[in-house]
Amino acid sequence: MFRKNREDFRNIAIFLDRDGTIIEDKNYLSDPDQITLIPNTITALQLLKNNGFKLILTTNQSGISRGYFSRNKLKEIHDKLVTILGLNRIKLDGIYFCPHHPDKKCFCRKPSPGMALGAKKKFHLNLKKSYAIGDRMIDVEFARNFGGKGILVLTGHGKEEEAKNKSDYVAKDLLDAAQWITKSRFLRNRK
Ligand SMILES: [Zn+2]
Repeated sequence: MFRKNREDFRNIAIFLDRDGTIIEDKNYLSDPDQITLIPNTITALQLLKNNGFKLILTTNQSGISRGYFSRNKLKEIHDKLVTILGLNRIKLDGIYFCPHHPDKKCFCRKPSPGMALGAKKKFHLNLKKSYAIGDRMIDVEFARNFGGKGILVLTGHGKEEEAKNKSDYVAKDLLDAAQWITKSRFLRNRK
């Protein structure tokens, strides 16, 4: 969906949660062969990419500090994910993860905004115009904490989280979220 005279979205990021949002949540996924894309993920990412948004994966991976898997294993998993997306002509602009245990109270674990602030510096992002999409309220709170908009998807744990919902939009899945973002930005642009 290309638009004529479209707004320059290159400084706007879509911060994408991984487990339960892009791929099936396998509860501390530790094997690259266990990656399963959630239906419509490719179409959703292509739509966002074609509109010029930066696609940035932001994922809490406390499994590292819990000793469930190593940093190397996580790299293997992300390399495989990059390969799968690449076969569908999708390139993530960045992959950020927090390896820390929640008890550490670090600044990079969502909902803290550390990963978004790191990406802002690198990509010169306008965080106010950026979005976070995820299946947990921490993803919505993450968006609040960096000053952007948060979308809850009902894939993964989304249905359990819906009761606590404080998001800007509840999406059926990533594609619904992507359509809502592109549509709402287009309409705002016409005013
Ligand atoms: Zn951290």
